[in-house]
Amino acid sequence: MSDVQLLDKNQLIEVLSQTKTATAIHIGEDALIQMANQAMLTIWDKDQSVIGKTLEDALPELKGQPFAQMFKKVWLEGITISGVETAADLKVDGEMKTFYFDFEYRAIKNEFNQTICILHTAIDVTDRVTNRQLMEEYYSKELALEREQALNEELAASNEELNAVNEELSQSQEELLALNESLERRVEARVKELSASEARYRRISDELAAINEELTASNEELALAHEQLKETFDELEDKEIALRLAIEAANFGTWHIHSESRAFITSVRLRELFGYDATHEITIEEALGQITEEYRPYVTEKLENALAGNGDYDVSYPVIGFNDKKIRWLRAIGNLKADKSGEFSSFTGVVMDISVIKKDEQRKNDFIAMVSHELKTPLTSLNGYIQVLQRKAIVFQDKFVNSSLEMAAKQVKKMTGMVNGFLNVSRLESGKIVLNLSHFSLTDLIDVVVEESRLMETSHIINFQSCEHTPVYADYDKIGNVIVNLLSNAVKYAPTAKNIEVTCTVINQMVQVGVRDHGIGIGVKDINRLFDRYYRVESNSQVSGFGIGLYLSAEIIARHNGTIWVESEFGKGATFYFNLPLYQEEIKM
Ligand code: ADP
Repeated sequence: MSDVQLLDKNQLIEVLSQTKTATAIHIGEDALIQMANQAMLTIWDKDQSVIGKTLEDALPELKGQPFAQMFKKVWLEGITISGVETAADLKVDGEMKTFYFDFEYRAIKNEFNQTICILHTAIDVTDRVTNRQLMEEYYSKELALEREQALNEELAASNEELNAVNEELSQSQEELLALNESLERRVEARVKELSASEARYRRISDELAAINEELTASNEELALAHEQLKETFDELEDKEIALRLAIEAANFGTWHIHSESRAFITSVRLRELFGYDATHEITIEEALGQITEEYRPYVTEKLENALAGNGDYDVSYPVIGFNDKKIRWLRAIGNLKADKSGEFSSFTGVVMDISVIKKDEQRKNDFIAMVSHELKTPLTSLNGYIQVLQRKAIVFQDKFVNSSLEMAAKQVKKMTGMVNGFLNVSRLESGKIVLNLSHFSLTDLIDVVVEESRLMETSHIINFQSCEHTPVYADYDKIGNVIVNLLSNAVKYAPTAKNIEVTCTVINQMVQVGVRDHGIGIGVKDINRLFDRYYRVESNSQVSGFGIGLYLSAEIIARHNGTIWVESEFGKGATFYFNLPLYQEEIKM
């Protein structure tokens, strides 16, 4: 190394000047040109005269470009700024041209790290850049062409697609048209339907209005019915009060029986009538227990029958008071009414004290019995005298005397019949009637009675159809009286129609006797009461009688386990029937 001579400063600069790479050295903030080699001067299109000038003085065209600013930054901050293919506008041959450079501004520092100069190197890459730009341009055109072609193709494809779409569209349009048509048709149909439903709606509406009217009317009717009900209810209440007052005034006892549970609800008065304390709740059995033994079975049977719905309930009976032991005659009248549920019935009624009436009746009966008894003795002797006279008169053969005596005998017989009737009633009432039973043929008895009546009642023609084999076990006289009674009534109540038919038939082991006339007949109002004691049909008051014949007949037949009844119509005659059990020897054995 000792043989080699170190280059001096100028020599170094000379070397730098020779490099192909455009090189320059600048100093200071304004990039004062210290040195620029030929290559750099060529770029700048300048000569050595730029040495010692600031960059912008040397190249005024750089004003407005970023380079002076970069130099200042490198100088002040001691850094390196480089660029690749950076464009710079330079004046060449008096014309502004754009060049491209790869450049570097490097701060050269001393040992104190102070910037002493800026090494500026630049390589003109304008050709490269422009070539590339041309290439790029070319390629971009090619690309554009390709793109155009591709676009064209795409366009063609799109066109085709468009055509297809168009076709589809036209198809769709057709379809749409079809759809439209069908829609129109449907709309039309719907409109029709709608108008039909509108009509229907209107009809329903009208009907509804009618119903509404009816409802209003019904409502009014209901209101009216309600009013009427209220009135009826008020009336009922009034009536109930009146009834209660009447019951209280008449001093009636009241009772109520539940047909199923047999609960017995009684009023205070009823308990009094049976001789119980007012507070003592009595049972049906207790009430029945106070009835005299003689009447108890009869009342019990009547009560059970009425509760079962068979027959009415109107019974009179004596009771012996439970506490006071007083005998009272009571009359009970009841009415059975089915409950709405149909499961049970209510048996309600009143009980009244008829002791006074009974006492009066008793007195009357006693009086009648006494009178009848007293009348019987003179009548018997009168009858005896007439019979003696009749026998004597036969000798004289005086017609007048004979017929007068006959008439007298008839009247005495009639009177005897009446007196006997009264006697029988009083006997019946006091339970003193006794049946005198014997075996006889009922037909024979009828024969006898009819024969007697023919003699007595010469005004009428009595027909009798007898029947075979009619054995009975009965009271001959009393049954005879029944037939006599029916025959005399047939004569009495048929003053103009002369025929009377008596029949006799055997039905179901019973002998049935019928007495038929063609007289005045009996009205509906009276028919059920004919057999009551002292009952007489009002319109027949001019015909003599006491209303005891049928009553006695009914009692006599009942005591023989038979029945008596009548079939009649007003103005069309009447048929009275009674039946008696046939006597059967086999049963007796
Ligand atoms: P009397 O005849 O004494 O009045 P009865 O007891 O025999 O009493 O009869 C009761 C009533 O029945 C009579 O008053 C009469 O009105 C009616 N009667 C009875 N028999 C007949 C008959 N054959 N035709 C029409 N009415 C009759």
